[in-house]
Amino acid sequence: MIAIDLEVERKEIISRYRKLLRKSKPFLKSGDAKIIKKAFHLAADAHNNVRRKSGEPYIYHPLEVAQICVEEIGLGTTSIVSALLHDVVEDTEWTIDEIEQEFGNKVATIIDGLTKITGTFEYGSSHQAENFRKMLLTISQDLRVILIKLADRLHNMRTLDSMPRNKQLKIASETIYIYAPLAHRLGLYAIKSELEDLYLRYSERESYKEITKKISETSASRSRFISKFIKPIKDELTKQGLKFSIKGRPKSIHSIWNKMQKKDVPFEEVFDLFAVRIILETTPEREKADCWHIYSIVTDFYQPNPDRLRDWISTSKSNGYESLHTTVMSRTGQWVEVQIRSKRMDDIAEKGYAAHWKYKENDNMEESALEQWVGKVRDMLEQNDSPALEFIDEFRSNLFQDEVFVFTPKGDLRILPHDATALDFAFEIHSEIGVKCIGAKVNQKIVPINHRLNNGDQVEILTSNKQKANEDWLRFVVTSKARSNIKDELKSDKKHIADEGKELLLRKMKSLKIEPNNDTFDRMRRFLRVDTQFNLYYKIGTQGITTQLLRDFKEVKHARPVKINAMSGSLDAKTFEKKLKKAKGDDNDILLIGEDMDIVDYALSKCCNPIPGDDVFGFVTVSEGIKVHRTSCPNTTELMSNHGHRIIKAKWTSQQELSFATGLKIIGTDRVGLINDVTGIISSELKVNMRSLSIDTDHGIFEGSIKLYVNDTRHLDKLIAKLEQVEGVEKVNRFD
Ligand code: MN
Repeated sequence: MIAIDLEVERKEIISRYRKLLRKSKPFLKSGDAKIIKKAFHLAADAHNNVRRKSGEPYIYHPLEVAQICVEEIGLGTTSIVSALLHDVVEDTEWTIDEIEQEFGNKVATIIDGLTKITGTFEYGSSHQAENFRKMLLTISQDLRVILIKLADRLHNMRTLDSMPRNKQLKIASETIYIYAPLAHRLGLYAIKSELEDLYLRYSERESYKEITKKISETSASRSRFISKFIKPIKDELTKQGLKFSIKGRPKSIHSIWNKMQKKDVPFEEVFDLFAVRIILETTPEREKADCWHIYSIVTDFYQPNPDRLRDWISTSKSNGYESLHTTVMSRTGQWVEVQIRSKRMDDIAEKGYAAHWKYKENDNMEESALEQWVGKVRDMLEQNDSPALEFIDEFRSNLFQDEVFVFTPKGDLRILPHDATALDFAFEIHSEIGVKCIGAKVNQKIVPINHRLNNGDQVEILTSNKQKANEDWLRFVVTSKARSNIKDELKSDKKHIADEGKELLLRKMKSLKIEPNNDTFDRMRRFLRVDTQFNLYYKIGTQGITTQLLRDFKEVKHARPVKINAMSGSLDAKTFEKKLKKAKGDDNDILLIGEDMDIVDYALSKCCNPIPGDDVFGFVTVSEGIKVHRTSCPNTTELMSNHGHRIIKAKWTSQQELSFATGLKIIGTDRVGLINDVTGIISSELKVNMRSLSIDTDHGIFEGSIKLYVNDTRHLDKLIAKLEQVEGVEKVNRFD
C-alpha cells in the first residue's frame, strides 16, 4: 500500500486550480473568476474523498476537463464552470435544480445535457446508440455540451491506462466510432488526431508501439530533410519582408497506420509521413492574396502535382477549415505536402468552433458553413424517427464524407456530401421537390436522377406530378435528409396499400359470410403465413386475394399453425436477458475458449476467423450463442460501441489439438520451382493441412493465396518465417 499524504495532495489540487485560472485569465470578464472559484469549491467538496481508478483524487478529472476546454478548445467562463461541475449531478447528491439556483439557467442546461448523455445501461441492443442520439439532440440546445463532452472523453482516453482491458477496448471503440468523427466535423483537428492515436494505442497495441518507435528513430533524418527543403522558401520569404513561421511535423500515428493498412505497405513506404506548414501573419483583407503569393514562391522552387491542389481559402470546408494545400516534388524525389495559411486560419484549424466565433465577432460574414451544418443536424434530428442504431449509422456516414459545392440556378451555394446525386440535391431544396423529381439539368445538360454531382455544377431540378418515390432510390441517395424523406414517403404508400387490402378483404369476407373477429384473423394470418395484421392487409393489397382462396380458408376449420418467419420469431427480451446473464457468469467471468466446450456454447466468427493466440472477445448473439471475434475484426468497433453489454472477455486456454482455418498471401518474384518449394514447406516440413491454393503470375511477379489449417498463432508465425526464407519470396501476410 502506498501512504497518501493528504496535505501534499491538497496542495497539488490548489496548484492545479491556479493553473486553470492562469490559463483562462486573458478571457475573463470582471466577476468571472469569482464564479469559477465557487464552481471549483463546490466540485471539490462534492467529490471529496472520492478517487479515480488510478487512485488520484477525483477532482483532478473535472479540473483537467476544464483545462482542456480553455487551452485546447478555447471556451470561456460558462464552459469552465460547466466542466468543473460536469460530474456533480451524476455522481453526487447535487440536483440540477440546485445547480440552476447557484449558477443560473445556462450552466444548468449544459450540465443537464452532459448528464443525460451518460445514461445507464439498460436492456436493448441500441441503448448506446440511443445515448449518442441524445447527445446529438443537445446540439440544438447548446453546442458547448458536445465540446465539453469531447474534452471529458479526451481526458478519459488520456488516463485509460488504469482501466481493465475490456473497458479500455470498449471506451476506445466508442471513441473511434463517434467521438473522433465528431471532433473532425467540428473542426477540432488536434483533438481528433489525439483521440485517433489513443484509440490505436489501446486497440492495436503492437502497431502503435512499432510506429511510435519508427517515428522517433527517423526523426533526426526527417528534420535534416525538412530544413533542407524549406531553406530556399524561407530565404525568399524573408527577403520579401514577410512575417511567417514554418513547421514541419510528422503526420499522426493513426493516419500513418491507416495508410499502411490501406495500401498494405510497411512504414518505410509511407512517403508523405509529414507535412510542411507555412503560417503567415497578415491582415484579413490581404490573407487570400498573400497565401496565393506564397504558393507561387513555393512552386517556383518545387514542381507541384497538379492533381493535389486543394483550395479551401476561396470556399472553406463546411466545418470551417481554411487552408491552401499543394503537394510538390522535393529535390530528392519525394512528394511533400505544403499547407499555406494565415495565423487566423491556423487558429481555426487547430481549435475549430470556438476560435471561429472569436474571429467572427467583427466580421459580417454570411451564415457560416459550420452554422449551416449545425442547422442540418437539427433538421435531421427533427425529421428522423428511424431506430436509433440506424440513425447513428447514417449520421456517422455523414460525418465522414467530404463535400461537393454546387449551385442553384440562381447561383446560391449548396454544400452536399461527396457522391451526392441530383436527387439528393432535389431533397436538399425541398422534400416536395425531391418526391416529384424526374431528373435534372446539370450545366444545361439533362441527366437522370442518380447522376452524381461534381464541384461547381449548376443544378436545376425537373419535376413531374406523376412521379412517385420508389424503393430503388434508397440505393443511390447519400444524404440522410433524402433517405428519411423517401422512407417516410414509402411508408405512407405502404399504409395506403394496406388500407386498400383491408377494404378488399372485409368485402370478400362479408360476401362469404366469414365473421371478422380476432379468432378468424389469427387463423387467417397463420393460413397466409404473415406475422402481423398490417402485413396481412398489405399482402392482400399487393397480391389481391381470390374468392377461392378464402373458401379454402373457410373449409380448413383448424388451420395448422405455420412457423412464422424467423425474423419475428427471435427470442423475447426476457429470455435473451437470462441467456446473456448465464453466458456472462455471475461476475463477468472470462470466457475460456478451448476446453470444456460444453459449458457454454460458442462459435468462432466467420468474419475474422480467430485462431488460438489471437486477442479475442466473445459476443452474445440473439439466436446463435456466443460468437468469438478477434479484437482487430472490422466489426469490433461497431459491436463494442453499440452493444457493449453483450461483450464477454475471452481468452484461449493452453494448447490443444484442434486446427483452425486461416489464409496466407505470398508475394514474390517468380522462378522455376518456386511453387514446389512453397507447398513443400507447408505440407511436409510443418505438417500443415492445406485447404486450397491459388497462384497468379504476372510479368514475373508471383502472387499466391493459400488457405490452410494451423494450431495457433505460434504455429502460424513459424510458418510465415519459414516461407519468407524461400528464395524469391518477398512478403507473406495473413488474411482472413
Ligand atoms: Mn467526466
